[in-house]
Amino acid sequence: MKVFLTASEAAPVAKVGGLADVVSALPKALNLLGVDVSIILPFYKCLNLDRRKVKPIKMDIPLLFDQNEQSFNLWKTQLPGSRVPLFLLEHGEYCTGKGVYVESDASSGGSEKEACRFLFLSAASIKVAEMMGADVLHCQDWHTAITPFLVREREKSLKTLLTIHNLAYQGIYPHETVNRLLGTNFSEEVNCLRLGIMNADFINTVSPSYAEEILTPGFGEGLDSSLQERKSHLTGILNGIDIETWNPESDAFLKKDYSLSKLQMKEVNKDFLQKKCFGEKNLTTPVLGIVSRLAEQKGIDLIKDIFPELMSRNLQFILLGSGSADYENFFKEKAEQFPGKFWAKIGFDEKLAHQIYGGADIFLMPSRFEPCGLGQQIAMRYGTVPAARAVGGIRNTVFPVENNKGNVEGTGFLFSEYRAEDLLKTIDEALKFYSQKEIWKQIQTNCMRQDLSWEKSAKKYLSLYQKILG
Ligand code: ADP
Repeated sequence: MKVFLTASEAAPVAKVGGLADVVSALPKALNLLGVDVSIILPFYKCLNLDRRKVKPIKMDIPLLFDQNEQSFNLWKTQLPGSRVPLFLLEHGEYCTGKGVYVESDASSGGSEKEACRFLFLSAASIKVAEMMGADVLHCQDWHTAITPFLVREREKSLKTLLTIHNLAYQGIYPHETVNRLLGTNFSEEVNCLRLGIMNADFINTVSPSYAEEILTPGFGEGLDSSLQERKSHLTGILNGIDIETWNPESDAFLKKDYSLSKLQMKEVNKDFLQKKCFGEKNLTTPVLGIVSRLAEQKGIDLIKDIFPELMSRNLQFILLGSGSADYENFFKEKAEQFPGKFWAKIGFDEKLAHQIYGGADIFLMPSRFEPCGLGQQIAMRYGTVPAARAVGGIRNTVFPVENNKGNVEGTGFLFSEYRAEDLLKTIDEALKFYSQKEIWKQIQTNCMRQDLSWEKSAKKYLSLYQKILG
């Protein structure tokens, strides 16, 4: 069985968000199971890799696109730290520019340039998969969601799996643009994700709970009826995390490595983080951390709503994030207003992210919706206890601290309704537990003992590929 993943991001080569983590961690795990799996990515100018290790495979591969016989070059390297082949599509016009996205960090189609970039990737991926003798083309999110439609329309024998990482981003383009670029015959606006849903041999999303939620109008983002139609071909497979990248025992970004048996060493990282953000250590004060896109999805409004209350509590709060300008400005302002209590870095910072996961006590994740969520899983791996909303993948990964017999067997503090007062109550509950050192240690232990690796999920993907291939 030969599988090709086609995607817009793959960590650490090109990363904007969690999608990149999945696109690199899943093939690594499949590779360990003996699956012949490769990744296809655009050869962006911004790729973070050793160019000396990139080898040409074939130059000037013809592709009919934008009403012309275009050509692209195919390069090959390995995903750093693995044996997974990484194929890079080079095109002089469509893959230029600084970032993964043409205009901004959080795009979902719409612009002409983005249509060129990702529809080109979608069409060229089929060509590459065929050239390389792939059996399954595994498409990731809206960027390559039109691929299953093209495979079907062009009567290719390739099988397709579409993984939906986030239903809110759909890749919507004017039909004129798509018809011009791909030679199709659409008569109304094209929704790439909908086409993927309707045409893929199978569809999955990144947690069992989200797979159920998206069948309802509340979470369906206007695609719930299409998903209902394909319900028998839809499943949910939980994302794991890359337990090598995210490992407190060997994390080069941390001040001090630690493990379950040396949990007290986590304090060295807290100490470091507090000094870095607030100028002095204060180990008894609980530190709340958040590492997140600053988008509506992430429940940032709730944090804004409770901000004054939060600042009246005995705690410190550290935020790393980037996204909408409104949110960014809000947190910049608050950081000036509450020095010593609230600290924010606006931007993307891999190293600081590790330091927050390692140094904070409580990790906030009050998402409005959450397809899977990596943040809460990474936090647990570092013994940083989530205070989160029980939605989507959070429901499948974080379990209430106290079970119904009052035993401390769970891993986090959860609330159900999307309400600011409930978030505040949840944080207060976490603070109460934090003050009971032995119990807190038990919760941290429960967190760090969770199996968050990709192995189980990779086996489920393997079964799915086998099912698709009949
Ligand atoms: P999403 O993919 O919806 O953004 P996830 O929780 O699934 O959310 O994954 C987010 C990933 O991106 C995590 O690995 C998180 O640590 C990382 N991340 C988010 N924002 C930042 C940031 N500003 N700097 C560094 N890493 C970030």
